[in-house]
Amino acid sequence: MQRLTGIGVSPGVVSGRAVVLMQRAQVLRYRVAPERIADELARLDQSRLRSRQQLQDIRARIGRRRGPELAALFDAQLLMLDDPMLVPRAEGLVRDTLVNAEWAVQQVFDEFSAIFDEIADPYLRERKGDVADLVGRLKMNLRQDVSSPRDLLSALEEASVLIADELTPSLVAQVDWTKVRGFATDAGSRTYHTAILARSLEVPAVVGLHCAVDRIQPGQMVVIDGTENAIIIDPDAKTLALAERASTDHRPARHGEGDRRRPAATADGVRITLDANIEFADDLAHARYAGAEGIGLYRSEFLLTSHRALPTEDQQYEIYRRMLEGMAPGTVTVRTFDVDEDQMARRSTDPTLGGSWISEEERGSRQGLRGLRLSLTRPELFRTQLRALLRAARHGSLRIMFPFVSGVEQVRSARQLVSEAAADLQARGIVVPHVPIGVMIEIPAAAYTADLFAREVDFFTIGTNDLIQYCLAVDRADERVSRLYEPLHPAILRVILTVRRAATRARIPVSLCGEMASDPALLTLLVGLGLTEFSMTPGAIGVAKQVLSELRSDDLRALARRVLRLPTVDEIEQELLAALGRYSIR
Ligand code: PEP
Ligand code: MG
Repeated sequence: MQRLTGIGVSPGVVSGRAVVLMQRAQVLRYRVAPERIADELARLDQSRLRSRQQLQDIRARIGRRRGPELAALFDAQLLMLDDPMLVPRAEGLVRDTLVNAEWAVQQVFDEFSAIFDEIADPYLRERKGDVADLVGRLKMNLRQDVSSPRDLLSALEEASVLIADELTPSLVAQVDWTKVRGFATDAGSRTYHTAILARSLEVPAVVGLHCAVDRIQPGQMVVIDGTENAIIIDPDAKTLALAERASTDHRPARHGEGDRRRPAATADGVRITLDANIEFADDLAHARYAGAEGIGLYRSEFLLTSHRALPTEDQQYEIYRRMLEGMAPGTVTVRTFDVDEDQMARRSTDPTLGGSWISEEERGSRQGLRGLRLSLTRPELFRTQLRALLRAARHGSLRIMFPFVSGVEQVRSARQLVSEAAADLQARGIVVPHVPIGVMIEIPAAAYTADLFAREVDFFTIGTNDLIQYCLAVDRADERVSRLYEPLHPAILRVILTVRRAATRARIPVSLCGEMASDPALLTLLVGLGLTEFSMTPGAIGVAKQVLSELRSDDLRALARRVLRLPTVDEIEQELLAALGRYSIR
């Protein structure tokens, strides 16, 4: 029995057999039942045959176009394909250790890599690239039979827990959560996107474990304890029994129908709007059930990961329309695609994730080309989304929101594209209603110029997940610095106040949709700073209503005034805890 400690990001206890995913190497590692080993070996053989055929075709094609010398480069790969150190060695691993073929191929490559890295001769060392290429081809051909990680996961026979080095939201979106009881990752912090998803899926999760994928073998029994920030590998019978009991005891708090429908307000009657953050159109029912008045943040980029190819205008229109009708009379705020270069590049190398948006060569700097900035470099893609949104707008109350904006000129360019999309539709005879256009304030530059933005847009939404990250220079996915990721930092409270005041002066609505709002203690301080609209994980709405209903807004404003004079996070936290009495910060 072994215990690893991390950061519990979604409470609850579950146990199950481990499925290990190396997302960075794009390989899923799981245990294959002995009676299915023959099938696994047949898959590997099929992949070898396909790879040979493809290499022979490429060699012939290149030979015709560029001459025999270049074509000969592929001879080396064809020879390697028959090398006993490669496919036969992988077959041995499948047979002896009962692992899936993808994992065995990756293992063999890792062994090869280590040998190549020690070779002094630069020419020979470079041959590692050939092996990598060939291994990539074998893995790609293995995927032909199982078209996505989701298919792989759904092929599992028993309830599992997912152990991963990192778990991108795109993969989380593909997991069949009826089969997977909980997860643990080596990377991550509390506001890691995947952690946010875990909370909305209500599956226990622990992140920031550093070395779980190396310590856990596929098929090993693992307990995930999101409440106690730990996982237990190979639990003894007593621990396992306790975990099983806790997993049946753990049920997310449910509130009565009346409570859920009641709008949120403080004890002295100040109305607070609580909307939901959602990632999938199917989450709408959950949001409504949880008592959300509207959708304050629909992360539309999840559309790109749940479809094999980029969704067309019609497909997007149908989804947006369904959401607007489903949430009526509430408002749905759709954030236009917020993806970064990495996510797009991953799509281009992973055929299971759909069409190729961007090629490796097109990738420039690894930071900052994301959200609206990226959409502006892909006007066709962006216009398609805007047309779909504007068409859907007549079916309900829609707001369009641009993410990751740092300058007013970006908003102007985006508005220009909105006008063009509207003109396209009008030319097609479609009537386009007025749709409020807003921005996420999540880059410090936008926050400090909120007064200037306020003249150009209809509403603000403060995205504290990114705002904190960029204000404090802390990568929220990096567990080594995640302790410094501090919503109660004086700079964060001041910057939020700056934005709220700019919105109030310009008389435009401002809401806050970062994870901060899901924490009831932080929420009360935000109300003290004058915010009255929030959007959060649906599961957090019930508790937020309850807490707000017991506190007076004038007390919260006084609390905020005191807190704004304090210089350190610790002092602020103590002041907040003292004021809130029984409501403690996690
Ligand atoms: C934010 O940055 O606060 C936000 C809600 O957006 P995301 O977490 O999707 O970047
Ligand atoms: Mg953000």
